[in-house]
Amino acid sequence: MIANHGYKDGSGEYYISLDTDKCSLCEEHGCLDGCPGQVFEIEFDDWDEEVATVRTGARNKLKQICAACKPVSGRPPRLPCQLACVADAISHSW
Ligand code: SF4
Ligand code: SF4
Repeated sequence: MIANHGYKDGSGEYYISLDTDKCSLCEEHGCLDGCPGQVFEIEFDDWDEEVATVRTGARNKLKQICAACKPVSGRPPRLPCQLACVADAISHSW
C-alpha cells in the first residue's frame, strides 16, 4: 500500500509517500536516523506489521522541515531519507 502523508496549500502539494509493503519487510528502519528533521516514526499497521509513517506533528509542516534538504539550486538527486531507506520506499511530491 502507498500511504500519503502531508498537505497542500496555495504554494503547492507537500506529500511524502511511503510504500508500506516494503516497510513491513524492513529490519533496518534507516529512515529513523537518516532524517535530520525526525520526520519518521514506526507504527503497527492494521495487519500488525511494523511500517514507517510521518509523525503527526510533522505532517502539516513538511515544506518547512524538509527545506534544509531541498535547496533551491543544487538539490541532490536523492534526499537523505531516500539514501537511508535501502528498500527505496520513500518518495516526495515536491
Ligand atoms: S527505512 Fe524505508 S522501508 Fe524501512 S521502515 Fe523506513 S521507510 Fe520503510
Ligand atoms: S527531505 Fe530531509 S527532512 Fe525531509 S523527510 Fe527527507 S531527510 Fe527528512
